Amino acid sequence: MAQFSPKTNRNQAAEDADADTGEPFSLNAFPEFRASTNLPRVLDRRKTGEKMLRGIPVSQGVSRSRVVVLNRTRIDPAKCDIAESDLAKEKDRLQSSLAETRRQILTMQGRLRDAMGAKEALIFDSHLLVLEDPMLLEEVSRLIREDLVSAEFAFYQASEKYADALAKVDDAYLSERAADIRDVTQRVLANLTGQTPCAGLTDLTEPCIVVAHDLTPSDTATMDPVMVLGFVTEVGSRTSHTAILARSLRIPAVLGLGEAIRELHTDESVLLDGFNGFVVIEPSKQTLFEYGQLVDRQTSIEKSLEVIHDDAAETRDGHRIILSANIERSADVESVLQCGATGVGLFRTEFLFINRSDLPDEEEQFAAYRRVTESLAPDPVIIRTLDLGGDKLLSHVNVAAEMNPFLGWRAIRLCLEEKDLFRAQLRAILRASAFGDLKIMYPMVSGVEELEAANVLLDECRGQLRAEGVAFAEAIEIGVMIETPSAAMIADSLAKRVQFFSIGTNDLIQYTLAVDRLNEKIAHLYEPTHPGILRLIKATVDAGQAHGIWTGVCGEMAGDLAAVPLLLGLGVGELSVTPSMVPRVKMLIRSIEMSQARELAEFALGSDSPKEILARAEALAKAAVPSFFEELTG
Ligand code: PEP
Ligand code: MG
Repeated sequence: MAQFSPKTNRNQAAEDADADTGEPFSLNAFPEFRASTNLPRVLDRRKTGEKMLRGIPVSQGVSRSRVVVLNRTRIDPAKCDIAESDLAKEKDRLQSSLAETRRQILTMQGRLRDAMGAKEALIFDSHLLVLEDPMLLEEVSRLIREDLVSAEFAFYQASEKYADALAKVDDAYLSERAADIRDVTQRVLANLTGQTPCAGLTDLTEPCIVVAHDLTPSDTATMDPVMVLGFVTEVGSRTSHTAILARSLRIPAVLGLGEAIRELHTDESVLLDGFNGFVVIEPSKQTLFEYGQLVDRQTSIEKSLEVIHDDAAETRDGHRIILSANIERSADVESVLQCGATGVGLFRTEFLFINRSDLPDEEEQFAAYRRVTESLAPDPVIIRTLDLGGDKLLSHVNVAAEMNPFLGWRAIRLCLEEKDLFRAQLRAILRASAFGDLKIMYPMVSGVEELEAANVLLDECRGQLRAEGVAFAEAIEIGVMIETPSAAMIADSLAKRVQFFSIGTNDLIQYTLAVDRLNEKIAHLYEPTHPGILRLIKATVDAGQAHGIWTGVCGEMAGDLAAVPLLLGLGVGELSVTPSMVPRVKMLIRSIEMSQARELAEFALGSDSPKEILARAEALAKAAVPSFFEELTG
């Protein structure tokens, strides 16, 4: 966790608190603001001049930086006629917006030069040239003069004409020029109309906190944690893949701010609290001091957890749990090794496929899977076969838009139809299995037929590899994710056919409770401690045990400290969590007794109330590792 270097000068902070006349900031001062979903999303703190916004905390950490609001909507000015008497005024407006755009580009160029060097900054030269292009400017002036239209409409028309013509020529250099023209045009139009220019993640030239209506998992996967110190979105929720990636990249994030997001503007200075879900606009010195302390506590806890790095995740009364890590990229093996996990419980392979213009072939996949397997051997690595669809889409595979993508052509359903795609992946996984303890896991299975159909293809690939004389682990273990209610209900039938189960609570909860995992408006209904969920988990574990196979959990519930004792008590034998949570989950497991966990589970299975279960579960976790909870509020 980096991003925030506090000015922890106590005397200065005390002075500032006095200056804040009786309204010192404390993270404890607004417990209701933090806890309740009915309280305001925006709080004005008049005495300090701060404004606090509240959203859903999805990725821990504190960052402080300037805001960049991403705006994907291109400014497309409507035709606006002007009177002949306004001609001079319109030309003046055009000239001053060109001058302002030039000034802005030079500033960005300067920033980029400081951050990355002179060569990288040259890319803005072509943008500056657009502003001086005589043909373009002459055409804009002609349109204003002869057609009597506004400067913005004239500029848009003229620049689109040029950009279109350039884009049509089959030449990479010229199409880039078309993109430059469109980019500069958006800046000129923004200056003429007072709107925010259309900007994306690739336009970032210095570290900032990104603010957007929404960010897709593909957007998030391309984020550079050096540039993006944190992000805030209007929509989204805790188990969206955007949130999961933020945790994996260790980028502090607050999602689901709703309308409150309108309070944030480019260049404002904000503090983002990914622990509690706050965004503080123009934070006071006292607030910065308070957060400095929080970051200090956080750092010292992380340091203290280093001593258990090599220890097992074993309860005080000697029950050992496998604690593994979830990863999205082969490069994540480094974090797995650093966090002290036992291998990988979920490798979300779909991130190898997105953000590119082609598909990774068998060789490329083999190299990625082998790297992970070999680096972590002899620890196990569970590779989940492609789970495309839902909120993870490929730009280059033609998937028609769906009304309900999470209920649609997704994961195993897609793979069983796109057989070549699936075969290439299965062959790559099988080949990598020769280099360590690799296991295969199928996602989104809802019935026995899907499992059997996948196994037919797997057998076909095995046969091919044998014939080709290529080595692979003949005894490779096969598992299924339990993430549809039907899979949990037929767990006994599935258990006869696989070697392990891994419960995907992110999807299991959304499908069982009929609560979209992406929708912030119903985030409060997304309750992991709902008795319906706990009973499905128990039924899965029991069916597994009856057939001698283990059950793990790889959904986000496994990394939720309050849920950990509950899952253990329900009989779950493996937890797979984002690497940053591994040390805390391990310490929690090492601080409780299995008998307490079983007692909690027994209570939960007899209760009708998700909130009552949550309160009991939280109480147990808090009593076991109080500092993990205190660190959030001081
Ligand atoms: C899950 O659904 O819990 C899971 C781990 O899969 P994903 O989050 O990738 O859908
Ligand atoms: Mg899932």
